[in-house]
Amino acid sequence: AIHSVFLYHAIQNGLTMGIVNAGQLEIYDEIPAALREKVEDVVLNRTPHGTDALLAIADDYKGGGATKEVENEEWRSLPVEKRLEHALVKGITAFIVEDTEACRQQCARPIEVIEGPLMNGMNVVGDLFGAGKMFLPQVVKSARVMKQAVAHLIPFIEAEKGDKPEAKGKILMATVKGDVHDIGKNIVGVVLGCNGYDIVDLGVMVPAEKILQTAREQNCDIIGLSGLITPSLDEMVHVAREMQRQDFHLPLMIGGATTSKAHTAVKIEPKYSNDAVIYVTDASRAVGVATQLLSKELKPGFVEKTRQDYVEVRERTANRSARTERLSYAQAVASKPQYDWASYQPAVPSFTGVKVLDDIDLRKLAEYIDWTPFFISWDLAGKFPRILTDEVVGEAATALYQDAREMLDKLIDEKLISARAVFGFWPANQVADDDIEVYAQDGQALATLHHLRQQTIKPDGKPNLSLADFVAPKASGVTDYVGGFITTAGIGAEEVAKAYQDKGDDYSSIMVKALADRLAEACAEWLHEQVRKEYWGYARDEQLDNEALIKEQYSGIRPAPGYPACPDHTEKETLFRLLDGTGIGQTGPSGVFLTEHFAMFPAAAVSGWYFAHPQAQYFAVGKVDKDQIERYSARKGQDISVSERWLAPNLGYDS
Ligand code: SAH
Repeated sequence: AIHSVFLYHAIQNGLTMGIVNAGQLEIYDEIPAALREKVEDVVLNRTPHGTDALLAIADDYKGGGATKEVENEEWRSLPVEKRLEHALVKGITAFIVEDTEACRQQCARPIEVIEGPLMNGMNVVGDLFGAGKMFLPQVVKSARVMKQAVAHLIPFIEAEKGDKPEAKGKILMATVKGDVHDIGKNIVGVVLGCNGYDIVDLGVMVPAEKILQTAREQNCDIIGLSGLITPSLDEMVHVAREMQRQDFHLPLMIGGATTSKAHTAVKIEPKYSNDAVIYVTDASRAVGVATQLLSKELKPGFVEKTRQDYVEVRERTANRSARTERLSYAQAVASKPQYDWASYQPAVPSFTGVKVLDDIDLRKLAEYIDWTPFFISWDLAGKFPRILTDEVVGEAATALYQDAREMLDKLIDEKLISARAVFGFWPANQVADDDIEVYAQDGQALATLHHLRQQTIKPDGKPNLSLADFVAPKASGVTDYVGGFITTAGIGAEEVAKAYQDKGDDYSSIMVKALADRLAEACAEWLHEQVRKEYWGYARDEQLDNEALIKEQYSGIRPAPGYPACPDHTEKETLFRLLDGTGIGQTGPSGVFLTEHFAMFPAAAVSGWYFAHPQAQYFAVGKVDKDQIERYSARKGQDISVSERWLAPNLGYDS
């Protein structure tokens, strides 16, 4: 049937398009009978001239007209099993309770509805997804349909004290301690759940002990760890080590934006040898991995292949780091950019100290959204707005975008979430080596910001950068300034998302979180513009549209601790103390607090520094050597091993 679907589709598009567009996929029974017959002739090789006959009628079925009609109405007259399948594949909830009930009345036992038509429908979804013919947002919508159907059946199943449908296995999912991000984890959970796995989701900020205890108590078959910020990498290593120490024997899956095959191979796998450690690239791979890990036949081969692969990754990584030469830290400092500070006249901010903006207009912020990362969070790759008309994902992207705009309107109109910002400016100077001293208006030192410098060898005499370069040195006698900000659009968002999740609507729950993230970034973008045009006022005449803002064509930067130019997440502690007057775990005027690993909660938050120097630019510090870390940790008043732990992803040496 899959082949005929391909063919049918090709005909609809005049046989010009090689790639199947998931949104246009029709299920077999929906194909008009005359066409279906010709298609079957070709697929089943029933007549010698099948292809010609098919081509002859192809024109009649070009375009979407016929499709729309069946999509809207005709499927309602299909047999109930097919209606359920259609609803699952198309993610339509409108008739699901009605159809599930009709099916239940036809079955001897309510469980049969799940084990029969519903599982079959989800298998179709799984197959289409696996084949790249359906995309994540559609699968998450299918899962919502499935959940509603199952929810309708559960009371009947319980009434007859019947068995719950048997799961393929139990998978524990958790975002590790110190991290609050769970969009990716939730998506993976939904995908695994609708493929028949039982998911034990422990949520976010989960300590190793709780993960292991739950896995033991609930007899889980796999542990899946997720994390977005770099300190989570270390926490995952810790969990692996603990699994070994406590003699666990079950596979460990690793996923999340900062994780990688290299990190899994080099840092995690060597700590846990009792069972497999598998890096899962994205949600679309999770089912394949889980299936192989839980299959007696497939597991040994799969695990062995992965092990060998990771051995190679380790060798390659070792060779590469042995080969890379860097400047000594002293040489890197000597290669800093030279600015003429004597003639430099820093822009003076309109105020020093801190300002709070409450209840920022979300309508305004919506105009500043960068939509491309929104699609990435749903595993749809492509630049907005082009992605909406993309040959492969266009229809899925368009449907997702429509749902997103609808939810955005709801969040704004019903005031379900709100945005807030705290920002400020302080007199500041660069001090040795690559630090920035921040002062109160009376000149008293308030804080020292610690920065790192690129040590990689640069081509063509290009300078080695540190953010400290963009502030006038103390010795210059010039009074310069830095700024800082915290923005969030997450106030209320966690609650709204949870309410949807409790209703079994993961699609809307994930949507709310993804939109709140976007609005927090949009708020950072909008506030930065206000800062340039007004509060710091060094670019009053700036005229940039949203595209130009996204391309960072503005003057000055707003680097965020934990990002490439300032990879040390622990610097957020100074930022939050300056702006919010808070320490770890405390909430101030921004409404955002830092976890012990310096993640921000609510997750929909951005924080960073402002630099106004005309040469200020975003860059990546990259790998640094021990000579720099020694100096850096001394400046921070921190044990070198502590700096090494927080900066692990940036170390160019084995610590
Ligand atoms: N327009 C994008 C911005 C993503 S970058 C979006 O909406 O998602 C997110 C934040 O990281 C930016 O707001 C900026 O504060 C910071 N940033 C970007 N590049 C950086 C770099 N190289 N170093 C440090 N911070 C950076």
